Amino acid sequence: MLSHRPLRPFTSLLAGLARLPSQCEVCRAWPSQPVCDPCVARFAPPTARCGGCALPVPEGVARCGDCVLHPPPLDACLAACTYAWPWPDAIARFKFRGDAGWATPLATLLRSAPWVEPALEQCDIVLPMPLAPERLRERGFNQSLELARRMAPAKTDARLLLRTRETPAQSGLARAERLRNLRGAFAVEPLRADKVRGKRIVLVDDVMTSGASLFAAAETLRLAGAEHITAVVLARTDPPR
Ligand SMILES: [Zn+2]
Ligand SMILES: [Zn+2]
Repeated sequence: MLSHRPLRPFTSLLAGLARLPSQCEVCRAWPSQPVCDPCVARFAPPTARCGGCALPVPEGVARCGDCVLHPPPLDACLAACTYAWPWPDAIARFKFRGDAGWATPLATLLRSAPWVEPALEQCDIVLPMPLAPERLRERGFNQSLELARRMAPAKTDARLLLRTRETPAQSGLARAERLRNLRGAFAVEPLRADKVRGKRIVLVDDVMTSGASLFAAAETLRLAGAEHITAVVLARTDPPR
């Protein structure tokens, strides 16, 4: 998914700015939070997106062709920005280097995306996409949980949706193969399955690439009786060309 690319000017700029926390790390406006409002408006503009997979669609189009042909197990799918500069660098800092300074601005960005706030208000529970225990140990924290608990602290539950195993890299696999790979990768905590039945759920993830993991998690929740599932993702990758 995310690759570690060689340092680019933006990255070194970010590193240098550790000493200047009040400068926007994208455009260097000052004073500011990690990313200033004009940069959010410029690099995460409200975009018409498919209601099933959050890919950009022309204004007025509800679903993309793929989602019409193969409806995903989501009632709605919302994304705050496209996974493109400057967001991959910010997300990598947050996710792989545990830069907690980015957690709040990224959660704010996500919460401010169209329809996210109402989805959070109307749902019963907010579930972060879980990491398998060994991945969680490696990384030390779950980036999706950090986003979820900043957006909806009272509704976030990190012990309900479980990841039983990590799956190998999914890129290069066909959609059907990806879904097969993920079969059984998620489970609902058996002792608390009643918390899912008949409930409206928001599922939070940081980056959505093929959507296979989100769809597999949603299928698991659906089988456990979830009534309505909205995926809320920070960044959506562009469709493969
Ligand atoms: Zn800026
Ligand atoms: Zn779609």
